[in-house]
Amino acid sequence: MLPTRGYAAMTVKAPLRPFAFERRDVGPHDVLITISHCGICHSDIHMARNEWGSSIFPMVPGHEIIGTVTKIGGAVKLFRVGDRVGVGCFVDSCRTCPACREGLEQYCEVGILLTYGGRDKSGQVTQGGYSTQIVVDENYVLRIPAALSAVGAAPLLCAGITTYSPLRHWGIGKYHKLAVVGLGGLGHMAVKIARALGTEVTVMSTSEGKRKDAERLGATNFAVTSNPQTFTKLQRHFDYVLDTVSAAHDYNAYLKLLKTDGTMILVGAPEQPTLLAPFPLILNRRRLAGSVIGSIRETQEMLDFCAEHKIESDVEVISIQQVNEAYERVLKGDVRFRFVIDMDRLA
Ligand code: NAP
Ligand code: ZN
Ligand code: ZN
Repeated sequence: MLPTRGYAAMTVKAPLRPFAFERRDVGPHDVLITISHCGICHSDIHMARNEWGSSIFPMVPGHEIIGTVTKIGGAVKLFRVGDRVGVGCFVDSCRTCPACREGLEQYCEVGILLTYGGRDKSGQVTQGGYSTQIVVDENYVLRIPAALSAVGAAPLLCAGITTYSPLRHWGIGKYHKLAVVGLGGLGHMAVKIARALGTEVTVMSTSEGKRKDAERLGATNFAVTSNPQTFTKLQRHFDYVLDTVSAAHDYNAYLKLLKTDGTMILVGAPEQPTLLAPFPLILNRRRLAGSVIGSIRETQEMLDFCAEHKIESDVEVISIQQVNEAYERVLKGDVRFRFVIDMDRLA
């Protein structure tokens, strides 16, 4: 076993604190990654507060991991010691169900093994990237293109792929009008990627203060959602709405902004459910859909796409000692647009 240091929530809603634990030894198909950076996703906060009801404690969060391969198992073919790599939201899947065989392992019918808060085959609870090192099967590891900085690439492993995947799946491109709801970690990546795909993007935000940022990120329009006129003015305006909001809100109001046959895609995962009225869907044959992260193959495609289009996340780099303060700021929407932990001060 490999002694590892990290930061963990020991119980539900407890502040994160230093935590020593053990990783499994490097197996034949595993790589050992020394972690340099890890992004803070809002999902880490939902999980540390057990808002989705499935959390296991103690919990070391973190699934936007960047590091360097420092050891490889005897059968590893894809990576060498010294490679810069990434790990996202899952570290294994069943590999045999129809979804896995199709290369859609994020929809594994048995269930993906989450990077943290899952139980691996041996029954050991997985622990995430707010830590010094991680052992991962090579098939669930991403290659980080040289053109991307470590800090700017970390959030791509979750925020990047979670927005890239639905944009690609629904073929959203230059003939479409897209509303991105919520300008946080996911939202700002959605704007950047959608713009690179040629899409006309309107940011819909609760924060008037993010107007300038939205423009800088490339959004064509900005609409503040506290203004009721926003919803009248934009009725039947969009082909797609991508909803990245982390707290419960009224989906019906956004459905009405879709044209006939338009699609609203949920990626935000609030703790509380929302009541859905039938008429906004019925009247214009609209659709409500959802999407979860992306496959390993698609995540690699997204990383290469971002390298080609010079897309990185806008980040604020912090030390692990600042993680609890960072969580509070994420909850207030006070981050432009992703916190990334530099693991130096943990080592
Ligand atoms: P984030 O950085 O905190 O961004 C969420 C944004 O939602 C905020 O910046 C804010 O934007 C808006 N917002 C927050 N509270 C709101 C409220 N009460 N009403 C309206 N808007 C509100 O979070 P994130 O990391 O981007 O994650 C967003 C959500 O996606 C979380 O629920 C997360 O768990 C989920 N997620 C899902 C997947 C997936 O695979 N589907 C993957 C990763 C994350 P404005 O200030 O612009 O209003
Ligand atoms: Zn995430
Ligand atoms: Zn499967």
